[in-house]
Amino acid sequence: MNHLSLPSFQIGDFSVTALSDGNMAASLDLLSGIDIFDAGSIQRSAGIAEPGNIHINSYLIRGLGRTILVDGGTGGLNNAGGLLKENLNELGVSPADVDTLLLTHAHPDHIGGLLDAEGEPVYKHAEVFIHPLEAEYWRDDDKLKEASERGKRNFALARRVLDAYQQNLHFFDGNEIMAGILPVWLPGHTPGHSGFRISSGNKCLLIWGDIVHFPHIQSANPAVSIAFDCDPAQAEETRKAVLEQAAREKMIIAGMHLGNAGFAYVFIAEGGYRLSYQED
Ligand SMILES: [Zn+2]
Ligand SMILES: [Zn+2]
Repeated sequence: MNHLSLPSFQIGDFSVTALSDGNMAASLDLLSGIDIFDAGSIQRSAGIAEPGNIHINSYLIRGLGRTILVDGGTGGLNNAGGLLKENLNELGVSPADVDTLLLTHAHPDHIGGLLDAEGEPVYKHAEVFIHPLEAEYWRDDDKLKEASERGKRNFALARRVLDAYQQNLHFFDGNEIMAGILPVWLPGHTPGHSGFRISSGNKCLLIWGDIVHFPHIQSANPAVSIAFDCDPAQAEETRKAVLEQAAREKMIIAGMHLGNAGFAYVFIAEGGYRLSYQED
């Protein structure tokens, strides 16, 4: 089965497909560093019908005999998302076919879908890769104590997932995970937040994780942070550097909170950047 309707890019030997997990009801109130009316007007100019919603993507990378999933969606937690499995199924991929699971970070909208109702791994045959600082952070009892009630639930989930996959858990070591797939540390949103640079042949694509949650707002105003950022100042610095690089190198961008189109380009604009789902 090959459903051409799902957005997809061929990067040399790898095909990268965007898999929508659906939407998470959120609010522009979560943003700092911008007036809510200005934020709403950017959303409206971009043609976004529900300006407070955050869209969730995972990505499937196939090639060289591998089936690699990047992030696992919400699994339907908190009535958000949960469509990833259906979309995988559309592609003719079952969870048991996934041999590698790459994680950008361990927030619930990225790992909620990794456990089934019994708390067992959904992706039973997958080797799992994550930044060592990410696992260290979620396993830190002092950080857990400092967390809000909502934060404590996030710690509990991250620990359940890390424990369930413990046998197959690997940490990034600065090298490629396999030829053509390089983890890139993008700290700030969480301590181990990372992207993945896929290069093959003369093509390159960056999966940038949670560099933005509201793509149009935060590219136009890279200083705007969201309440989910662990270290907003570091997240801002990272976001500015990545946007600059994406525009300069004319990279194809994939991101967990881009829209349904799944892939975007970044252009320099007055006072910031402009994100477009078209190459223009
Ligand atoms: Zn996140
Ligand atoms: Zn997220």
